Amino acid sequence: MPVVASAMKLVSEPIIYTRDQHPISRRNISKNALTVLYGLHKAGYRALLVGGCLRDLLSGETPKDFDVATDATPEQVKSVFRNCRLIGRRFRLAHIHFGRDIIEVATFRADEKGETDDDGLVVNHNTFGTIASDVQRRDFTLNALYYDIADFSIIDYVGAMEDIEEGIIRMIGDPAERYEEDPVRMLRAVRFAAKLGMRIEPETERAITHKKHLLENIPSARLFDETTKLFLSGYALAAYEELRIHDLFGELFPATSQLLKQFEHPQCPQYKNLIKRALKNTDYRLAHNEPVAIGFLYAVILWPLYHEELQQKIDDGVHWHQAIHDTIDDVFREASQRVGIPMRHKSMVRDIWVMQSRLTADKLNKKRMRSVMMHKRFRAGFDFLELRLQTGESHLQKFYDLWVQAQIDMPEAVYVSDERRSSYKKKRRRRR
Ligand code: ATP
Ligand code: MG
Repeated sequence: MPVVASAMKLVSEPIIYTRDQHPISRRNISKNALTVLYGLHKAGYRALLVGGCLRDLLSGETPKDFDVATDATPEQVKSVFRNCRLIGRRFRLAHIHFGRDIIEVATFRADEKGETDDDGLVVNHNTFGTIASDVQRRDFTLNALYYDIADFSIIDYVGAMEDIEEGIIRMIGDPAERYEEDPVRMLRAVRFAAKLGMRIEPETERAITHKKHLLENIPSARLFDETTKLFLSGYALAAYEELRIHDLFGELFPATSQLLKQFEHPQCPQYKNLIKRALKNTDYRLAHNEPVAIGFLYAVILWPLYHEELQQKIDDGVHWHQAIHDTIDDVFREASQRVGIPMRHKSMVRDIWVMQSRLTADKLNKKRMRSVMMHKRFRAGFDFLELRLQTGESHLQKFYDLWVQAQIDMPEAVYVSDERRSSYKKKRRRRR
């Protein structure tokens, strides 16, 4: 059976921005990325920065990482660098290690669909291509620029420079098809809109409405990773607003979303404020280099479900201890249908919720309070209580005051992690 290359989309000639026509200087590029680019270039290969790092630099953000694209095969890349490891099965990538920093090098890919036979079936995914074909597999125009170390020019096949300038997120190719190929691109569109304050181009946006249900087929671990990027990158509140605008929040957290839509529900405004305020605090903490935990945010986002069901069970006469644990199991089971919470984060969510009952218990004596404060999640639980109070649960004021006083009266009882304890010691030692 003859094998033919799939019909590649017609690519017009790229626009080349020479060094004097764009603002990216080698000073903006990490030393390790430059080492990799020059290493490949000297060995006679093409070497270009690609993707997110250029988008970020051109929109005034600091790139998280620098990705390199080349025409060298992974094996050839390995022969250039001693500190190189090849990873991935379906598509091999080269990782160049510099201590903890890793520069990822990818060989130009053939058209996403690979080679096809007469019936259009894909027969080979792992073929290497050219820059022109590599462009086609990228998601948005703003993620598809190349910076060539050979002459410091920027290569633009898709009008990316203009889109970045105008603040537009535009899908490369047909948006509906590209979402079908990978529905996570819908979440990525929203993430870049929130991060860069850009708007999603109308067709790219419209297709979300028709394809958003496809997110239910994505493995929950991948949704968890993407959700973490949405909420722990310093623009969580904006990301949440964008998710709600595009009706994607309900694809990640269907049950919470449903509850928030019940406007007649007496606690609906409180729940909404609780989520928004927690996300805003998270952004603030990240901006001030304070620690944040994704577990805390899951405790917040799933709280309406937990709170409602727990109330119901207690009203039905279930013993509170039993009610708490059954409700936690139910809510986790419900949530895992979409964004799965990894085990290591579940314990934090559980502890924060259980702590709410301990912090608002009827008979709080000194001995009990001391033991609550010694719990390793006391701080998180107390912060959560404060958030509830700030967002409308005024009946919590008396408990809040009680715990503030307890921390003043028994500061030695408040749990401090070993890590923090030793960093206090170190700081003190340094001062002497
Ligand atoms: P960030 O690093 O902020 O998450 P990024 O755009 O750099 O954003 P990466 O996951 O690091 O995202 O991917 C690097 C590049 O790979 C992107 O810029 C894009 O060109 C391409 N890419 C990543 N994910 C996809 C996807 N799901 N579909 C198509 N192209 C993608
Ligand atoms: Mg990246």
